[in-house]
Amino acid sequence: MSKKQIQKDISCMDDFDPESLTPDKALEKIFTSLSRMTQTEEVPVREALQRVLANDIKSGINVPSGRNSAMDGYAIHAEDLPESGTRTLHLAGSSFAGQPFHGNVEKGECVRIMTGAIMPGTTDTVVIQEHAEKQDDTAIIIGTDTKPCSNVREAGEDLAVGDLVLQKGMRLAPADIGLLASLGIAQVPVFRKLRVAFFSTGDELRSIGEELEDGMIYDSNRYTLFGMLSRLGADIIDMGVVKDDPALLEQAFIEARDKADVLLTSGGVSVGEADYVKDVLTRLGDVNFWKVAMKPGRPLTFGKLGDTFFFGLPGNPVSVMVTFYQFVQPALRQLMGENYSPPILLKVPCLSSLRKRPGRVEYQRGVLEQQDDGSMAVRKTGKQGSGILRSMADANCFIVLPLESSGVNPGDSVDVQLFNGLV
Ligand code: AMP
Ligand code: MG
Repeated sequence: MSKKQIQKDISCMDDFDPESLTPDKALEKIFTSLSRMTQTEEVPVREALQRVLANDIKSGINVPSGRNSAMDGYAIHAEDLPESGTRTLHLAGSSFAGQPFHGNVEKGECVRIMTGAIMPGTTDTVVIQEHAEKQDDTAIIIGTDTKPCSNVREAGEDLAVGDLVLQKGMRLAPADIGLLASLGIAQVPVFRKLRVAFFSTGDELRSIGEELEDGMIYDSNRYTLFGMLSRLGADIIDMGVVKDDPALLEQAFIEARDKADVLLTSGGVSVGEADYVKDVLTRLGDVNFWKVAMKPGRPLTFGKLGDTFFFGLPGNPVSVMVTFYQFVQPALRQLMGENYSPPILLKVPCLSSLRKRPGRVEYQRGVLEQQDDGSMAVRKTGKQGSGILRSMADANCFIVLPLESSGVNPGDSVDVQLFNGLV
């Protein structure tokens, strides 16, 4: 046996790589080169759901428009409230939501009123019906249960004329489109949808419907990407599978550059295949090839092909999702004009023991669950290999283990990033 050792390159099996970027640093580099969408359009309020608001919205009216009752009962003047015992008030009429009482209400009088109905005349207090007794059709007896000015909603209490209601750059949720409707706003200014193209690379990939010969696999990355992009409200351009062929790849890059704001590819960036992709990309644009100190998802390509932002994601199905959530999704949200804030990390005890060596940030897949005692805890899903897509499907969160972590014992506290919080 020869003593000579083979010359080794740094591989994705190594944990420390002096040339690699931390995930934070990579995201920072991505953010500094991003622009923001400037093109806007107006859409009907229902279609504005999940879109990014392109202007501040101020209230043009008071909501509610007038003082009204918060309860079913009797509208009175506070000065008619007895200090002790009871008082009998003359019933002057009724005020229903949409059918106000017109006319004066004198001292010593009351008006039957329903929730949402306009407070009649100078009345300022509502005695709820449970605290009033009907003497007959024309008289009501009240006691001392009611505080002056209670059970009344002031005009503009929810929104006053001129109030800032919704801020430019927010993604509109159901409550937001409800608020817009409450202001009578029919058309909403939003940023144009981002056009995101993607394709998969690999001679081994087959599409659904094709026969799976020996050694071939179905392309799943185009489906996870489709899912993640749909949730973000992107205009999706699925370019299919492109073979590991320099000419075909070049053609696909050029096509995407011409029709998309962003291009995502998966596969073909590992060491074995990278070289000719690198040549093509370097010729077509300004592209960085990074090694990121993370697991899964170490190789990441980012840059621009003309005006099109380009992310070259790894091929492994879990790596695609991890790098999408950690880098692409924050970037796309910024490009869409959204005011991006980083996902919330929850600190919870971990029920599993997690193996890890220092040197990389790991995104293990976990299930955050309520325990019998009501507290929350996380456990890992089964096997954590970057090809095991089931580890994502079974999970509801990432367990984020920092660079320096050397593993987790059951009961240790860990950081968890909920998938729900990732849109
Ligand atoms: P690559 O980065 O091209 O070397 O791919 C790494 C691993 O991910 C290989 O096992 C590929 O077969 C697999 N892979 C690449 N692209 C896809 C895809 N679109 N769907 C499923 N697996 C893929
Ligand atoms: Mg490949």
